[in-house]
Amino acid sequence: MSDNNTIWEHSPAVDELPEDVIFVDTLRCTGCWTCALACMTGNGLSDGKFFVNVRTLGSGEGIDRPAGVWPDLHMSWMPYYTKGCLKCKTRTDEGELPYCVKACPNKALAFGPAAAEKIEAARERGSRIYQLPAWEHSKEGVIYASPDRDIL
Ligand code: SF4
Ligand code: SF4
Repeated sequence: MSDNNTIWEHSPAVDELPEDVIFVDTLRCTGCWTCALACMTGNGLSDGKFFVNVRTLGSGEGIDRPAGVWPDLHMSWMPYYTKGCLKCKTRTDEGELPYCVKACPNKALAFGPAAAEKIEAARERGSRIYQLPAWEHSKEGVIYASPDRDIL
């Protein structure tokens, strides 16, 4: 069950993951928006239309400043997949990666079997594995790992 007080849904077991699962490793994400722009250009979307956009989490004053006080500064990002995301089915049916996954310069995204492997590795290393709750109206089958652990 989810409600407006829930910030993440249950952690899906490996056999609950769909074949077209997308994994987002928030520890690796640097908020560069390359995924969003790759999707926009690859799928021929109009300028400024995004199937995935990138939220800034934990920023300080303004979205481009970290939270905290020097030297204890922190900032993180979360790619948010909208319902419009097609999971690049025409590409993945041909064995290609989705535009967003292929373009990420930090290997923060993974797709399909590679995603399932990374999810399990992150889980074993103590990461919180979660999906967004229903009230977020996000794309199904997108799984996140929290940033509070060692990098994989
Ligand atoms: S997921 Fe990758 S491409 Fe997208 S904002 Fe994060 S680091 Fe950049
Ligand atoms: S999977 Fe494809 S359609 Fe969905 S956000 Fe990534 S590039 Fe866009």
